[in-house]
Parts: sequence; structure tokens; C-alpha cells
Amino acid sequence: MYRPRAWIITIGNELLIGRTVNTNAATIARELTLRGVLVKRIVVVGDSIDEIATAVREALGSADIVVTTGGLGPTDDDMTMEAVAAAIDEPLVLNPEALEMVKKFYGEKGLPLTRERIKMAYLPRGAEPLPNPVGAAPGAYIIYSGSHIIMLPGVPAEMEAMLQEALKKLKPFLPRLCVVEEGITIRGVPESTLAPLLRRAAKSCSDCYVKSHPKGHEVREPVVEVKVLASAPNCETAKSRVRNMLGKLEALLNATHSPGKRGL
Ligand code: ATP
Repeated sequence: MYRPRAWIITIGNELLIGRTVNTNAATIARELTLRGVLVKRIVVVGDSIDEIATAVREALGSADIVVTTGGLGPTDDDMTMEAVAAAIDEPLVLNPEALEMVKKFYGEKGLPLTRERIKMAYLPRGAEPLPNPVGAAPGAYIIYSGSHIIMLPGVPAEMEAMLQEALKKLKPFLPRLCVVEEGITIRGVPESTLAPLLRRAAKSCSDCYVKSHPKGHEVREPVVEVKVLASAPNCETAKSRVRNMLGKLEALLNATHSPGKRGL
């Protein structure tokens, strides 16, 4: 089944200097993954038109969906729209609909439109503004050469609200897949002991992504969370794939590592 590929481009010097934890990358990756999209790369770039434009061009070379976050605000270091415009060879233009959104946001607060505020209504030509229900800066959506580009703000609450709207736009292009994830916690078995059993159990499910997450000490107090993610055209099948795989793992564990036999 066709699975669209996505790149996520997170923008901001604060991410590169470790001042801000890149939670947006994880949120977007998770939301796309749960909709059957294959997230192929997550990139962090600084506040530089050239660097953002280069990342967007590179993404457009291989991704069906490109999501950017950050750099949509009123300050000089907010340059995502300009960079995306450069990457797709379109001019940056004042979008009347986006201007109305900005006007409404500040008007309701009795604040005038300034140059900095109007700046947020400039989008690459042809882009559709995405309303921001939480903050001032509209996002944008454009299809370029068959790839969907979604530009979202950096503030996590704004980004999250707008991502849901953007995903509605993408819906007709997303696969009709149900993605299910479940997990189990295994205590008393080191991850290294678990590894061959996981390998055997995973073979039983070709469409599963299996990952062990060690939470405790490898040998002193081993605690390993095993997560299985599977996709299928319907949720029942996806769920049963996950459960079968986990059941197989538990059976293998019981056969070789039941409490009486735990050799670690
Ligand atoms: P706004 O339009 O609201 O000003 P913006 O698009 O200009 O937002 P930035 O100025 O880049 O976004 O960042 C705004 C805030 O969001 C900053 O506090 C920043 O640290 C935080 N932020 C930016 N990117 C991320 C990210 N990837 N993960 C988590 N927080 C982020």
C-alpha cells in the first residue's frame, strides 16, 4: 500500500543551542505516523533564510509531505515564509485572507496593525493561510510539484491546534490505514536476553515495528518496555497483528524465562 513520506523541518536557533526541547518534532512525527505517513527525516535548522530554503528544497526532492514549524512570528528572525517562497521559486506576497486574520486578532485586543504585524500576513504566492486559533501568526499550506508543504508556528500550543486543521486538509491524500500501538512491560529480563526472542517474535509480523525501551538497569533490576506498532487497512486487523506478536513474545518468554528458569 502507498505510504506518503514526510520530512519535518523544525526551525530556530534556540533548538540548535539546546535552549528549547524540540517537542514539536515529536508531536508532529507521532501524529503523522498514526495516520500511516512514513516520517523519513526530522531536521533542525537555524534562523537563516538560506538554511531553511536549502532544507525545504532537499525535502521536496524526496518527500510527499513537508511540515515546517517555527519562524512565523513578527520578529526579524522569523523568516520561514520567505525561505519557503525562495525554495519553491515564488514571491512572498501579502495574502488578503491572512491579513484579515492578523487584523482580527489585534483588532479584538484594540491594537493597531504595525509593520511587524502585517509581516505575518505575507505568504508564498499561491499558499492558503491556515487560521491560528491560539496566536497571531497564520500558518500556510501549499502544494508544490505534488508535495504538500505545511507551515506551522513554533509555539507548541499554536502548532498543535493548527496541525489538526492541516491534517484535515491532508486527509484525502493519506492512506486508508489504521495504525495501532500497544506494549508490555517485562521485568527481570535484561534487554540483551530479550533481543533474540524479540527478533523471533517480530518475524511473525511483517508490518510491525517493534522496539524495546530499557527503563531500568540492564542486569540489576531490568525493566524493559516493548512497544509494537502495526498498520492495516482496518483497526481490527492492526490490533490483532500487535496482539499476536506480543502473545508470541510472551510465550517465548514463558518457555525460556519463566520465574523458575530465569537465568538472566
Ligand atoms: P509565533 O508566531 O507565535 O511568534 P513562531 O512561529 O515565530 O511563533 P518561534 O518564534 O520560532 O515561533 O518560537 C516561538 C516559541 O516556540 C519559542 O519559545 C520557541 O522556543 C518555541 N518553539 C519553537 N520551536 C519549537 C519546537 N520545535 N519545539 C518546541 N518549542 C518550540
